[in-house]
Amino acid sequence: ELYNKVLELKGNIRVFCRCRPLNPEEIAAGASMAIDFSSEKDGELTVKSNGISKKIFKFDAVFSPQADQADVFEDTAPLATSVLDGYNVCIFAYGQTGTGKTFTMEGTNDNRGVNYRTLEELFHITEERKNTFRYEISVSVLEVYNEQIRDLLVSGSQPGVTSKRLEIKQVVEGGHHVPGIVEARVTNVNEVWEVLRTGSERIAKTEVQGERLKETQNINRSLSALGDVISALATKSPHIPFRNSKLTHLLQDSLGGDSKTLMFVQISPNENDLTETLCSLNFASRVR
Ligand code: ADP
Repeated sequence: ELYNKVLELKGNIRVFCRCRPLNPEEIAAGASMAIDFSSEKDGELTVKSNGISKKIFKFDAVFSPQADQADVFEDTAPLATSVLDGYNVCIFAYGQTGTGKTFTMEGTNDNRGVNYRTLEELFHITEERKNTFRYEISVSVLEVYNEQIRDLLVSGSQPGVTSKRLEIKQVVEGGHHVPGIVEARVTNVNEVWEVLRTGSERIAKTEVQGERLKETQNINRSLSALGDVISALATKSPHIPFRNSKLTHLLQDSLGGDSKTLMFVQISPNENDLTETLCSLNFASRVR
């Protein structure tokens, strides 16, 4: 209720900023922290350079390196579980390599992230509501690789050897689907972990030189298309360029309309990474 009131007032994109800790190598090398988190509770962080405060950024939430997976999920759960009330929800992480995107979304075996915790919470709530509602939960895992969509739950599916090429189709007004994609019915969280693990084993790993270049170009294309869509949504532009990449086309129902979107902007605390960090922070604050 309250959340939806807030949503009406604020639009449908939330931005959380999370900063990873300095790693042992950085500490050994005497790296200095470029971010001040003393106003973390107000959703603010301050970027410092040579010890001098340079710029304050404000987000819907800020997580310092001390925040753990449970802290992050506590603030994510209300949005994530609103799928049970019929919303499309899209949660994704953005940021420089090595800033903790995988850590936040996937997590590690003993420190699980948003994906797993969300499904765990969904099973918990559906169990509580089982006398009044019947929910079905299924998982699909796909990869957008070089502008091609591959089903990662099809056994024997390998990068570049797509048994059948999947396409995005609009089925009803505003509803997009990928016909033919495997939807694995899951009834408890252990099944989910199995399914997601199969998802990470089959992800494309390219070794061929030419392919690498093509891959990088395609990743950049998807990311800039995503950036364009997010800025168009944020400025309430009448034309949102969803069709410019497979990624944004696929996410159309999750990013547009009355769906709820949460972007984690992941950053490094290391002063040496300040240029990249400012890039990410500036991009993310355009979105709010
Ligand atoms: P990305 O997916 O953005 O490339 P990773 O998630 O692989 O980055 O993170 C890089 C490294 O930093 C990993 O070893 C990860 O476990 C660690 N790391 C990232 N964020 C945190 C965090 N908040 N707390 C502890 N370790 C983290």
